[in-house]
Amino acid sequence: MKIHEYQAKEILKDYNVPVPAGVATTEVDEAVKAAEEMKANGATLFVVKAQIHAGGRGKGETKNSGASGVILCDTIDEVRDAAESMLGDVLVTKQTGEEGQKVKRIYVTDGVEIEQEFYLGILLDRAKSKNVIMVSTEGGMDIETVAEETPEKIVKEWVEPGMDLQHNQARHLAFALGLEGDAFKKAVKFIMALYNCYLETDANLVEINPLVLTPGGDVMALDAKMTFDDNALYRHSDIEKLRDKSEENPVELEASEFGLNYVNLDGNVGCMVNGAGLAMATMDIIKLSGGEPANFLDVGGSANAETVKNGFRIILEDENVQAILINIFGGIVRCDRVANGVIEAVKDPEIAQKVDDVPIIVRLQGTNAEEAKEIIDNSDLNVISAVLLKDAAAEVSNVLAPAS
Ligand code: GDP
Ligand code: MN
Repeated sequence: MKIHEYQAKEILKDYNVPVPAGVATTEVDEAVKAAEEMKANGATLFVVKAQIHAGGRGKGETKNSGASGVILCDTIDEVRDAAESMLGDVLVTKQTGEEGQKVKRIYVTDGVEIEQEFYLGILLDRAKSKNVIMVSTEGGMDIETVAEETPEKIVKEWVEPGMDLQHNQARHLAFALGLEGDAFKKAVKFIMALYNCYLETDANLVEINPLVLTPGGDVMALDAKMTFDDNALYRHSDIEKLRDKSEENPVELEASEFGLNYVNLDGNVGCMVNGAGLAMATMDIIKLSGGEPANFLDVGGSANAETVKNGFRIILEDENVQAILINIFGGIVRCDRVANGVIEAVKDPEIAQKVDDVPIIVRLQGTNAEEAKEIIDNSDLNVISAVLLKDAAAEVSNVLAPAS
């Protein structure tokens, strides 16, 4: 689960990780009021930041006003202008895609002077089965670019499972940032506190980009991205409440309401399968056959007419889908029942209309597979049956690029 920057910073504060003061709001007037209060407390610089579940806001642009998603302001009037330009507009960043994301809330923060910008990230390194802490002197930059072009500028420490982050590891990381004296000590403290926060909240990612050193020698998180392990949310009802469904992919949300595990991807072949392992194999075979998976849809253990119908409806909401591959293994659920489910679903008027020019390839294996194939073959619908996965793949490439 993702949360917003302002929510992440509230959590960081609870774990004694230093962040600038800030107020989140949906109203221009409240943004102005917050800045006025900061000014009364001595602030001379303010930052207005769009709160959307996507990064790259600073380099992003709003569709109507053409403003950035992170605006530095010297005066209260500039804060008002910035708030007006963002609220209600749609922000497009490298991470939102062309359609962008509507800005419903902004965060007004105390502007911090920057001496140096760094990157700090904590996540699970699945290859090593250990949490990894990464730092880089290339703060504020896209870390994927740094990893690709200058990987030597990323320094990592892995934490042994069951052990705490060791003080000397935090020191090694702070040293790698080139810090000395008081700033070094503050960075060590920052890293220890941040790791503790990551562990205790069952986060699976904490990214501080940039982490900054101020001219006054303070070490602070200017940006904060946190995501959490969904399977651990039951232990953190306070964090679960931070979920902002309006930021999530509406189709993925709809699927989760039907108990379907759906992930939207960029390709043109819709997949409907039962079991995550089979989903992976199916996606591989689609790629090998020259297609690109449009989604990952796992209908789970109960592949009946109802789930198949909901699966179709969800897959067909994606306009890029040019073909659908159904790959279901009939164990407890018999293949003939699934075949009948597919046919019933395809006859449903709402679906029938949409699948007219979207060929469906069905591969059913397992209990009663032969009966299932017969049912499909005798159905005079736009449904092609296949027995082997490689046949199914050949059918997919055939319908994507018909042999001339
Ligand atoms: P992102 O673009 O979505 O990653 O948003 P960030 O919160 O990282 O802000 C983008 C950039 O704006 C940062 O890399 C900083 O360079 C700058 N920025 C953000 N907050 C402040 C601030 O308080 N003071 C100054 N001087 N720059 C800031
Ligand atoms: Mn950032």
